Amino acid sequence: MSQTEGQSTNPTSNGNVNNRNESNGVVYPSFASHRLRLNPSVDHKSDNYEDLQLDFSPLLFSSLERYLPPAFLNSSRDQKVNYMREILLRYFPEGERTRVQKHREYRQKIISNYQPLHRELYTMHAANFFVPSFLKAISENTEESYRNIMSEPSPGVLTFEMLQPRFCEMMLAEVENFERWVRETKFRIMRPNTMNKFGAVLDDFGLETMLEKLMEDFIRPISRVFFNDVGGSTLDSHHGFVVEYGMDRDVDLGFHVDDSEVTLNVCLGKQFSGGELFFRGVRCEKHVNTETQPEEIFDYSHAAGRAVLHRGRHRHGARATTSGQRINLLLWCRSSVFRELRKYQKDLSSWCAECQREKKERQRQAVAATKLELLKREGETAT
Ligand SMILES: [Zn+2]
Repeated sequence: MSQTEGQSTNPTSNGNVNNRNESNGVVYPSFASHRLRLNPSVDHKSDNYEDLQLDFSPLLFSSLERYLPPAFLNSSRDQKVNYMREILLRYFPEGERTRVQKHREYRQKIISNYQPLHRELYTMHAANFFVPSFLKAISENTEESYRNIMSEPSPGVLTFEMLQPRFCEMMLAEVENFERWVRETKFRIMRPNTMNKFGAVLDDFGLETMLEKLMEDFIRPISRVFFNDVGGSTLDSHHGFVVEYGMDRDVDLGFHVDDSEVTLNVCLGKQFSGGELFFRGVRCEKHVNTETQPEEIFDYSHAAGRAVLHRGRHRHGARATTSGQRINLLLWCRSSVFRELRKYQKDLSSWCAECQREKKERQRQAVAATKLELLKREGETAT
């Protein structure tokens, strides 16, 4: 493509990686000059890397390949791998790579041993999973179509009917089946997060592909409309899990924010009382512990099949499930673009209620100071 010609000589493109190597006094061998192009060769057909034992995902190599300098596009697969690996290593520290590799092995071990109960859950069958009203809104994909099926009982908290009862039952049975397998084989599983001692990571036993599709085709379109200010249109990874509450499970969940840009929380059942979600306003990292304003207090009672969608930074918790058992499916959706840009953003956040209050207060003070200055001048000219 001609549009990419000359891009590689642009000093503002990807050249900064070279400078960085000299700044900390570390001398890199000559391949530190390896770099990618700003724009991909869209017509180029990438190699397949899936049969290689690599420390990065084979898909990453396939998608990165189109950004190689033109001279490299037709070189051998080994040469291309070495070139791209060298670039990736600069951005991905060894500790992190080891952790990812270990987790990949952990997942592989589960998936090759666990026998799923309902295989139909493992690929997206939208017509079988979702209620018709939800599917209709998604296919129209407009703010109006979403507003038609949603209520927003508190600003930034959307609730809507989403899952068919049959899907909920199958998913509950699948989770139970998985947990039975865990007990019988004494497999040591990782729990969904630091706060839940019960529950399971759905991505770890084969549901990753289905949940990725759920995020891409269903949650991202909605988030583009309602949560664009926190990267809603660029959601590109997820963490999917179930949490279990009840007498012999986790009882409640303390006040917290999620490690997500947008969180989907759907109740799968079963019979329970209590377990309400309580919301207390959206806050940035700096303001996470600031006071709640009266208008930010909102409590929500779960109903099976019904979804709640909110910003991850919306502070919330779960009250005690006082009887029965409650199981919820959670999908934490993240945007790497949003997270990267946040690092450089020093000013107030448009989505943080406390930042907005600070901003208004500064404006109020500025106006007051100007008024005072004007009065003073008037006073001076009068005398
Ligand atoms: Zn803030």
